[in-house]
Amino acid sequence: MVSSPSALAKSVAHAGSALARHWPAPCAVCGSWVAGGLCTACQTRFIPPRLRCRCCGLGLTAPAEVCGSCLRQPPPMARTQVALDYAFPWDRLITAFKFGQRPELAGVLAPLLAGSLRASAATRPDVVLPVPLAPARLRERGYNQAWELARRVARALDCPAWPTGLQRWRDTAAQTRLDAAERQANLRDAFLPDPTLPQRLAGRHVALVDDVMTTGATVSAAAELLHRCGVAEVSVWVLARTPRPAEELPSG
Ligand SMILES: [Zn+2]
Ligand SMILES: [Zn+2]
Repeated sequence: MVSSPSALAKSVAHAGSALARHWPAPCAVCGSWVAGGLCTACQTRFIPPRLRCRCCGLGLTAPAEVCGSCLRQPPPMARTQVALDYAFPWDRLITAFKFGQRPELAGVLAPLLAGSLRASAATRPDVVLPVPLAPARLRERGYNQAWELARRVARALDCPAWPTGLQRWRDTAAQTRLDAAERQANLRDAFLPDPTLPQRLAGRHVALVDDVMTTGATVSAAAELLHRCGVAEVSVWVLARTPRPAEELPSG
């Protein structure tokens, strides 16, 4: 029984998403028909188990909590949770999700991140925030892919999510011609907190969600800002991590 138009809309949306989870659809990778849009064979084949650094999420060749570079210079996030490597076939799916006007792919991709979080020792955050897009880019795309992931993962893990906790007023995506130091400086002031954030999140644990983590400069800049606002602990949750050989790729 629904009591208002908004409750009705909510219940229809809920029924729709439940249907999407169980209704057969072509696997986003191999095209075979499967419930949920991604078959288990593709998940097993293309998401091999990987040892990762607890702080930066990069792959490790031998068991260790933290990689050498995070030991030497601890990053601002206590933990980075990664669902998969940014590699075939996820790279083309993520490109379609981000640049191909296919926000619905979040319905296939977010469960991979939620599943990797459930399987990890990660503690629940007090709130989940997406890495924001600059306003011009958001207008052009029509959606923030990080929020599309964040809200679904937060719902799966029963955590609150806040779409506008951080704002981005400078578009830092086109910084390929900058060296590492210039990129860092360019990112330092790219984010602004919601004015109520310091009061609401002081002493709290925040999880920052992004689709792809390449150098880590973007999430590190956002995490540093959250710490300056009084946030006690920042975790980073990313769908895909660019593996080490491409770490020097000049992007965020
Ligand atoms: Zn498949
Ligand atoms: Zn590391």
